[in-house]
Amino acid sequence: KSYREVISLPGIGSYTAGAILSIAFNEPYPAVDGNVLRVIYRILGSFQEIGNSLSKQRVEHMIKEVLTKENARNFNQALMELGATICLPKKQAKCHSCPLSKFCKAYQENWVELLPMKKQKKASKIVEKTCLLLECNGNYAILKRPSQGLLGGLYQFPEAQFMTKQSEVVKWCKENQLAPFYIQRLDDHQHVFTHLTWKMNGFYVRVEEENQAFLWVSKEALEQYSIPTAFSYYHPKNLSIS
Ligand code: SF4
Repeated sequence: KSYREVISLPGIGSYTAGAILSIAFNEPYPAVDGNVLRVIYRILGSFQEIGNSLSKQRVEHMIKEVLTKENARNFNQALMELGATICLPKKQAKCHSCPLSKFCKAYQENWVELLPMKKQKKASKIVEKTCLLLECNGNYAILKRPSQGLLGGLYQFPEAQFMTKQSEVVKWCKENQLAPFYIQRLDDHQHVFTHLTWKMNGFYVRVEEENQAFLWVSKEALEQYSIPTAFSYYHPKNLSIS
């Protein structure tokens, strides 16, 4: 029956904890999910953005103020039910059947389809690049990324501006003092970061001699280097190379 105990269980957040405590024990804890947020923001006619922890805390605080040991169970279930069956998103809201329409600012002001305001997701930037799995007598080329910035301090296979033709790979090798004698196109791969997507393709290239620009390590020794998931798609252990 204690909030502290329930919230400490794995996988239980404030919504589930509030639902358990109020529905099972009539304890005055709010159960605020997306449906309840929508109902409250519409009733208030609030144009503040939802989708951040502050908006949820704000509504939890407001509901806590009016919950009592007598009404918690019914109050939370009524809000949940209203959000799930009547106060539906966008044009689906059934305001004419809603017992709260008299008090609802969004309904009175004709803002129902506008609310709640959701945070606009930033468009993900797309960067195209080519990953080169370079091999020389069983050793593979890697390099350390700069310590600052994305994937800072981790190791990667060499990369280049997006290339699709073998002739471009040959040119790149020459510019990097490498002599390729076998080139194989590898599958495309996509890696999504929060605001960035790498669209990658890859080439497996056997070269005659190692150069100084990269660290050359055996397939087994590669395991000792932290290679992030974005590049590990092209790790030799994950590829079938002819
Ligand atoms: Fe939601 Fe419409 Fe009811 Fe307001 S009147 S709470 S918008 S269903």
